[in-house]
Amino acid sequence: MIIMKFGGSSIADADRVRHAVDLVRASLSRQPVVVVSAHGKTTDYLLAAAHTARGGVIDISAVTDYHARLIADLGIAPTLCDDLFERLEGFVRGVSLIRELTPRTVDQILSFGEQCSTRIVAAHMQQQGMPGVAVNSFDIGLETDSRHGAATPLPGIDASLASHVRAVDGIPVVTGFLGKDASGSITTLGRSGSDFTASIIGAALQVEEVQIWTDVSGVMTCDPSVDPRARSLAQLSFEEASELAYYGAEVLHPSTLVPAIRKGIPVRVLNTMHPEDAGSIILPDSALTPAAAKSIVYKEDVCLITVASARLMSAVEILSKAFGVLSEGGIGVHMAATSEATVSLVTDRDYDEKTIAHALERLDSLGTVQVSRGQAIVCVIGEELKSRVRILEEIFSRLGEQGIKARMVSQSATEINIAVLIRNDEIATAVTSLHELILAAPA
Ligand code: ASP
Ligand code: MG
Repeated sequence: MIIMKFGGSSIADADRVRHAVDLVRASLSRQPVVVVSAHGKTTDYLLAAAHTARGGVIDISAVTDYHARLIADLGIAPTLCDDLFERLEGFVRGVSLIRELTPRTVDQILSFGEQCSTRIVAAHMQQQGMPGVAVNSFDIGLETDSRHGAATPLPGIDASLASHVRAVDGIPVVTGFLGKDASGSITTLGRSGSDFTASIIGAALQVEEVQIWTDVSGVMTCDPSVDPRARSLAQLSFEEASELAYYGAEVLHPSTLVPAIRKGIPVRVLNTMHPEDAGSIILPDSALTPAAAKSIVYKEDVCLITVASARLMSAVEILSKAFGVLSEGGIGVHMAATSEATVSLVTDRDYDEKTIAHALERLDSLGTVQVSRGQAIVCVIGEELKSRVRILEEIFSRLGEQGIKARMVSQSATEINIAVLIRNDEIATAVTSLHELILAAPA
């Protein structure tokens, strides 16, 4: 068995749906279980409709027009999703009346994207003589906690999930992104969460391989829009890919590898538009390349917060208190450094003024606080770093040649990741010059 997961762009119009279904047909001998995202930008349209409704206006036409077009182009039953649209309109109407939008309602509204796409893809499969069956993940035991918008599957769901999927009479086409909590409410796994669904179901079924079909030819050596010389990586380890996803490489939802690691299942990233490309395979262990590292990733718009103790408080005390304040404020931390009485923390993303101001008020009691916004983390990732004794020197000299000064550095204890704090406006130059470290070696 394999999982074949198709992202929104891979099923964005009728031609792409046909193409995706052709890819499934070509893999029939491997007993595929299909997982799909919502078509194209449906989730964005749904989110916009939810927010418009909070302002009192009911408008789901972006969603219904787009799907009507897709359904017509594919020549499937025009009423296929009508009951879903009716229910969607009901929820949106409810929001417009009470002018309140809870995270629970947002998840309910967003769920219509994948509920429609599974039906449409399964219907097209049937048209093509393949027994596609639309399946709602929330009806087959994909149970999660109740963190709407960022839910995590509950432990111990594998057996029930696997037996439900196996019981489907045909080729299951399962909703990505969605789950259900203990009270029966629909939850979502975070934006781009269908990758995560693919690996959750893959782990439950202990498949041979989880395939993520997307619009790039695998995991790249860096963002090709920053440096067009970027090339795709044939192979990476779970650990490398996790670091990559965590530090902002958009190819995989950051949690995707957790279930795969648990069961040691290979994850392959493939390009729907170029299925002949080998893509990248993510395996328990990495193959070392002749380069200095595997990939350069970056995260823009993070904040640097520095707290200098006014009183005699040790860095450890400041650190523990500061972490407490930030986590209560819902602020995540990506990097930390301490000196005797100073603590520097880098947030995991940009936060609005209000959130930062609120945290600062509370951090003030610890000492003098300084905040710099518009910062970026550039990260060099790869098992190769371990054996490269002069790597820090290489990184600093490349950045230095470009006039870029590292404001903070961290190297994880696993040694496969070196993160450097720079400014947003230095990203392109920093990534391109560090990418040379990888390009310097033969492909
Ligand atoms: N449809 C969801 C989103 O747009 C999930 C996904 O695409 O993976 O975020
Ligand atoms: Mg995606």
